[in-house]
Amino acid sequence: MKPWLVLVCLLTPVCAHAQPWPAWNRLLQALAAQHLEISGADPRRARIETIGKALIARQNPRPPWDFVVVASPKIDAGCCGEGAVYVTSGLLDLHLDDDELAGILGHEVAHGIMRHVETNQQPQMLMEQARKDQQTALEQVDQLERERERLASEEFQRRQQELAKQALELKERIAIIQASARKVELNLRAQEADADSVGLQLARLAGYREEGLLTALAKIQEAGGSSPNLAGYRHPPIAYRLGRLRQLLQILHKLSPPDLPARP
Ligand SMILES: [Zn+2]
Repeated sequence: MKPWLVLVCLLTPVCAHAQPWPAWNRLLQALAAQHLEISGADPRRARIETIGKALIARQNPRPPWDFVVVASPKIDAGCCGEGAVYVTSGLLDLHLDDDELAGILGHEVAHGIMRHVETNQQPQMLMEQARKDQQTALEQVDQLERERERLASEEFQRRQQELAKQALELKERIAIIQASARKVELNLRAQEADADSVGLQLARLAGYREEGLLTALAKIQEAGGSSPNLAGYRHPPIAYRLGRLRQLLQILHKLSPPDLPARP
């Protein structure tokens, strides 16, 4: 049985009705790999849910979303795909206000809405399939060698050419996948910038101060928060994000006055 399946069975009440969607499964796998659990009893979860639901309120159509607290002293938040966002108890221990939490959650929700995790995982899944196909092709070559004696020479050559053609196609496929994996690598920083930008606008639309992410990141930096996160993703250095966010906020304030809609 895969480790995450075991985890589904053993988890605290919040996961007893674990959702089957892929992002949720990815979250459980990431936690299982690090022997971490969702803290179903953490009273701060209700606050995370309220803010998270306000951030996704305008998404249409809207898939199922879950906002959970992971029991870990690490200062961290992450998105495991559209619909699954976590924050750690370590992050909540920084006592961020609602605007700051909305900033952090808005960034993660933006990753989810833009389906960054799903996009980034695609080359990996295609590569796994290519590896399986490569293994099958190698077994077919072995099989043909074993049958060589009893096959007519034309039949042997026909099958040999077929396998050679398959091998060539496979080689081309792998080269294409490797190229798209490199593209994903190059896109990561752009995705982070997009998540900061979209995230703070989601926070603003939900009635939170858009500076929340900026002050939250400053507090995380002061507390020594680090990358990569529990889900294995690496955010750019906080100092870089802070600089970029300050520029972004200046532009936004020039474009529109910082008046807020009523908070839900
Ligand atoms: Zn991010």
